[in-house]
Amino acid sequence: MLISSEKQLLINLNKIQIFYIDKFIKDLFIKYHEIQYCILCNGSDNEFIAEKDQYGIPCPTVRCRDCGLIFSKKQLTNESMIRFYDKYYRRIYEGVDGVVSLIEIMEPPMIEFMGPFFHRFLPPAGT
Ligand SMILES: [Zn+2]
Repeated sequence: MLISSEKQLLINLNKIQIFYIDKFIKDLFIKYHEIQYCILCNGSDNEFIAEKDQYGIPCPTVRCRDCGLIFSKKQLTNESMIRFYDKYYRRIYEGVDGVVSLIEIMEPPMIEFMGPFFHRFLPPAGT
């Protein structure tokens, strides 16, 4: 049973979410360890059910045929989990990232109206 695939996301993503999902997937400091046995019953007979999560992030997910537990085959290492929650989680989950990201998702008339205010917070061009 396949519940998500390459072509079908379960939620709509804004530009900020797409940006940080891509950045997370390409982050070379993010490491995983593979789960060989069911973390509940220690069984090794798994049924593959999804290759990505609802955000389109690769997350091979299986169902244990012995006890029915659904779990990710690849799980973040402790260090990577800290990095994920520090740098990505809120931006991907909520789709906002402070002043710079507000500009990314605003419509042009609003940017023109708010521009003089926001420019005080932006880095100089070319940096
Ligand atoms: Zn199990």
